Amino acid sequence: MSKEFSAARLDVRAFAQSQGHLQDQTTLSVFPRLAQDAQPDAGDTHGQVHWQADGELVEQTGGPGQVWLHLQADAVVPMVCQRCLALAPITLQVDRSFRFVADEATAESEDDESDEDLLVLSREFNLLELIEDELLMELPVVPRHDACPESVSMQSSDADFEQAIEDKPNPFSVLRGLDVGKSAD
Ligand SMILES: [Zn+2]
Repeated sequence: MSKEFSAARLDVRAFAQSQGHLQDQTTLSVFPRLAQDAQPDAGDTHGQVHWQADGELVEQTGGPGQVWLHLQADAVVPMVCQRCLALAPITLQVDRSFRFVADEATAESEDDESDEDLLVLSREFNLLELIEDELLMELPVVPRHDACPESVSMQSSDADFEQAIEDKPNPFSVLRGLDVGKSAD
């Protein structure tokens, strides 16, 4: 049976070697920097994060094998919609793979020719921090509903209002009507 891994202090190579799998479903409070951007008094729209990580060791001829980490995360962050100013559950999605290398110098030298993101191997890697970093990058600059729930009723009430103005009799024509009544007497 595979050993227990800790997301906050992950032995990345061991995780990859044993094809480790970690997942969790948590509230936003686990990710304080992300929670900072959420509306605290969110009512029914609770912020939550669901993530999973898989380790993989890719065989390498004449080498120790490449250490990979595949990360998927979904989050719902309650934010204020900048169009209708109501609360909007903003969905964030992350699906990325990372390759771990021995040190910072290797990461820098291989970064240009690598499509994947490179990280430095650690026996106490903070996976939660990586998840939070990735989710923060997905945060919209201007949070908005895909379709604002209020927009339909707002438009119709605007139309009603304009209709009410049109229906209201013009004060001058009312006076004219009075004049007409008078002269008819
Ligand atoms: Zn909106």
